[in-house]
Amino acid sequence: MHAIRPGTRMLAALLAVAIALLFPAESQAKKLNVMAATQDLAALAQEVGGDKIEADAMARGYQDPHFVEAKPSFLLKLRHADLLIVVGLELEIGWLPPLITQSGNPNIQPSAPGYLDASQFAEILEKPSGPVTRAMGDVHPLGNPHYWLDPDNGGRIAKGIADKLGELDPGDAAYFQQRYQDFDRRLKAAEKNWDAQMLPYRGRKVVTYHKSLPNFAKHFGLDVVGYIEPRPGIPPSPGHTIELIGQMKRDGVKVVLMEPYFDSKTPNSIGAATGAQVVVMLPSVGGEKEVTDYFKLFDYDIALLKKAFDATK
Ligand SMILES: [Zn+2]
Repeated sequence: MHAIRPGTRMLAALLAVAIALLFPAESQAKKLNVMAATQDLAALAQEVGGDKIEADAMARGYQDPHFVEAKPSFLLKLRHADLLIVVGLELEIGWLPPLITQSGNPNIQPSAPGYLDASQFAEILEKPSGPVTRAMGDVHPLGNPHYWLDPDNGGRIAKGIADKLGELDPGDAAYFQQRYQDFDRRLKAAEKNWDAQMLPYRGRKVVTYHKSLPNFAKHFGLDVVGYIEPRPGIPPSPGHTIELIGQMKRDGVKVVLMEPYFDSKTPNSIGAATGAQVVVMLPSVGGEKEVTDYFKLFDYDIALLKKAFDATK
């Protein structure tokens, strides 16, 4: 009926441009939504996923990954996830399974293609030989779940994630493999440097709060001779602490390593009784603000350890 006036035509053209800018073609805009249980796994996914993925994590690096408070925001993110990466070995059993169910997202259910258990790629230590129990509340019933603290495992996990991303997004499979190759090259170079830095301290005896460091200790040659927790997940008891102090005196243990999320009262009293230095070592990416990726985690911890070992010769 009405002729379109020039002004209107201009407006329509501008609108079309604005829409194109806001909503680029599907193929360009589509990124895989990756949700990881921990920041370590999110960091590894980001290394190989580059700008083809959005990676986010639930447990923060300064939180105990065994005991995470489930937040409504987790549910929202899980609902939209294309891929969920978990540590596995029952690390998240206390908080994650109900979230996965409640998310109602069929893609990330444990038997679905968008569910990835990273433990399958890693070397797992302390695997139980007998029947599996959670005796006395042991939170490591299937083997030690803190396996990401060995850089060799980090490389293996990154490969597993790259393969999975390629499976979910075959068009970018070559991109993910190329990113993995590049990451692996940088990791091997960094590892050489870390190994050299830790070489003078091989065989040094330490005590840790939780059994978080067997993979780290194995890789870098540290000797973990005791734990402040009587069993993983069980708080310190006076009897166990007294025994540990005696053992540390006999073995000449001068460094106690604790995770940032434990109460420092018992470690400090052990330090006072034995003359050992108490060091807060980060078990995860995100444990401190500046530890923003997988490389910085080892940079940070190794610098800390060197300082502690040098000070307690
Ligand atoms: Zn643990």
